[in-house]
Amino acid sequence: MRRRAKVAVVGAGAAGLVAARELLREGHASVSVFEKSGRVGGTWAYDPRADADPLGRHDPDSPGGAVHGSLYASLRTNLPRELMGFSGFPMAGGRVFAGDPRTFPGHREVLAFLDAFAEESGVLTHVRLRTEVLRVRPLGNEQGERWVVAWRGEDGEVAEEVFDAVVVCNGHCTVPLVPKIRGIDKWRGKQMHSHNYRVPEPFRESNVVVVGLGASGIDIAREISYVAKEVHIAARYSEDRLGKIERYQNVWLHAEIDCIQDDGRVKFAEGSAVAADTILYCTGYRYHFPFLDLDGLTVDDNRVGPLYRHVFPPKYAPNLSFVGLPSKTVIFPSFELESKWVAAVLSGRVTLPSEEVMMAAVREDYRRMEEAARPKRHTHALWPEWVEYVNWLADQVGEPHLDARLCDMYERALKCIWSLDDRYRDRWEEEEKVHNGGDSAVSSVL
Ligand code: FAD
Repeated sequence: MRRRAKVAVVGAGAAGLVAARELLREGHASVSVFEKSGRVGGTWAYDPRADADPLGRHDPDSPGGAVHGSLYASLRTNLPRELMGFSGFPMAGGRVFAGDPRTFPGHREVLAFLDAFAEESGVLTHVRLRTEVLRVRPLGNEQGERWVVAWRGEDGEVAEEVFDAVVVCNGHCTVPLVPKIRGIDKWRGKQMHSHNYRVPEPFRESNVVVVGLGASGIDIAREISYVAKEVHIAARYSEDRLGKIERYQNVWLHAEIDCIQDDGRVKFAEGSAVAADTILYCTGYRYHFPFLDLDGLTVDDNRVGPLYRHVFPPKYAPNLSFVGLPSKTVIFPSFELESKWVAAVLSGRVTLPSEEVMMAAVREDYRRMEEAARPKRHTHALWPEWVEYVNWLADQVGEPHLDARLCDMYERALKCIWSLDDRYRDRWEEEEKVHNGGDSAVSSVL
């Protein structure tokens, strides 16, 4: 007989919403989604506020401390709509949610999509808004047979409730990861993390060093370049493209920052140095679970572990799980497959290997990373092996593998992002036609 569990989900962003839908579909007895903010949608609810400290060096555990969202006002998705839907509830295909039909819509469209998904899937009625989870701990001395969730409601009152299982979906783009730069004590200018970037105006007529060449770094550098005097991007693995970026008037690509010189200028690894007003870190985020303090489960150099396939901590499986840790993959479809796996394991329809076997698999994953000289902090960054992961999840729950066309689309979207050409979003449809007609990918924009 299937187990019908009482499940708590922490967070009502895209991950928490789809996790709740899958738990309900699996027939679990009750699903409560705890959400500390006043609405669903998580990251996609644009928040014009920024942290008091531009580097976000507040204590993220302090009540009401951090601003959760990291979106900038102009943000458009970096993936096409087709890669951002859920099964039975696509974002592509004609339906428009907030009047923005573009293939790479602005953030309001994604938020409206998530609102509609929450409402129409029936998940919304299971969400407890303005309810912050303060602590999640195993009941008694158990190893996670049941879980106590302590939460604070809107009225400030703290309560506890026992659940059979907890699914953690608290989001991972809030606590800035800021690299240590040699000689930073000699820096007299401003520093900021992209978590607190909203609009380009404050950078008018200034010289800015943008650190990092991920999707946000590229978008922000480009946007700032329209108002700033000079923008210098410092990035690893950029050796083959160093120098002025042709397409822009005032943007240069450098190797990573070597140090801050005695004269206060920023020196790059290739040897050049610039005087700048601001260093803007687009260097990603730290995983952070302020409500979890569990024996044997750690975040070490941004590796959450040990976790079996990024979801189940072997010691506490199956009743504690994480949905939404992997990056550099098709994010929404990964959320959905992880959620289906969690829901099916909790019901007993799918079984996990023993704790020992899961631990051996984790150790093997770590060994392979080391062998490939991949840094620990990239544990949950799946590219280039993201397809294997997504399809492995699909196999666990008897779902079809990801359509090869979508796999190809994701790889092409990544190439577009890395091409440093901000026009890729508007040229996508045109390039798609060429691509689907058998011509060679998006080579013309790369
Ligand atoms: P979140 O959306 O962060 O949701 C987590 C929720 O948990 C929040 O609502 C938060 O309030 C709540 N919460 C946290 N702690 C608690 C607590 N203790 N108690 C109760 N509630 C809590 N992805 C794409 O697929 N395409 C893109 O184009 C794209 N662009 C991005 C651009 C930027 C700038 C950023 C930062 C991210 C982007 N992403 C993109 C990734 C994005 O993070 C995911 O799309 C996704 O929205 C993350 O969902 P989530 O549910 O994991 O986290």
